[in-house]
Amino acid sequence: LVKAEGVRKSYGQLEVLKGIDLEVRTGEVFCLVGPSGSGKSTFLRCINHLEKINAGRLSVDGNLVGYREKGGRLYELKDSEVALQRRDIGMVFQRFNLFPHMTALENIIEAPVQVKGTARAAAKERARELLARVGLADKADSYPAQLSGGQQQRVAIARALAMEPKLMLFDEPTSALDPELVGDVLDVMRQLAQDGMTMIVVTHEMAFAREVGDALVFMDGGVVVESGHPRDVLTNPQHDRTKAFLSRVL
Ligand code: ATP
Ligand code: MG
Repeated sequence: LVKAEGVRKSYGQLEVLKGIDLEVRTGEVFCLVGPSGSGKSTFLRCINHLEKINAGRLSVDGNLVGYREKGGRLYELKDSEVALQRRDIGMVFQRFNLFPHMTALENIIEAPVQVKGTARAAAKERARELLARVGLADKADSYPAQLSGGQQQRVAIARALAMEPKLMLFDEPTSALDPELVGDVLDVMRQLAQDGMTMIVVTHEMAFAREVGDALVFMDGGVVVESGHPRDVLTNPQHDRTKAFLSRVL
């Protein structure tokens, strides 16, 4: 579903992604781990075209992200076309960026109503289903400030799901949470994985990666150092850099 070939990204002189090759298959939970500054968030942002890549090819569902290819040349997509590509990709960040002045339900129906033109009544019905799915059926009318961090993060997941994405990107979704709230969010993600959602998950939750992940990539310094099945990489890392990293986080 996602294919990266030689993806490079620089900020000014600083090259952050130095040729990333990887492939995420449909239905797969793909875990991305690595030290701070290794380029994990940058890579996720490239998939959404929140960042433009400087070289290489990046495609989602067979379509180049942000570009159209014609006669061997690349043409940048218009903003409206980029927006159309983004609709299919849900993103959940470390900090739950819910709209503070809207209830949980209003947060969830916002994009379907405004972007897709879904009727309010239908969007609300779907939002209630999604709230139930993330274990928050009774919180529809609560404002973000009235919810715990873990509850806010589950609303953020429901909000992303409301657009019926074919791919979900998670950037350290539990790392800003108090430890006792992490489990509920991981449970929702585990359920989503069981339902067949394709997910790319940047995480330091190695137990989750081992249990739920289908593939794991260890990134360091803007390159893929090692990849494979999470069980193999986590229990039997081949590279010194992977070993050093895992000895710090496990
Ligand atoms: P962390 O685990 O801390 O979240 P990360 O692997 O997600 O790290 P990135 O956020 O992708 O790392 O950052 C990679 C490098 O790119 C860092 O050196 C960072 O300072 C730099 N960087 C990220 N965003 C920008 C930006 N908008 N402008 C300039 N440099 C940036
Ligand atoms: Mg990051």
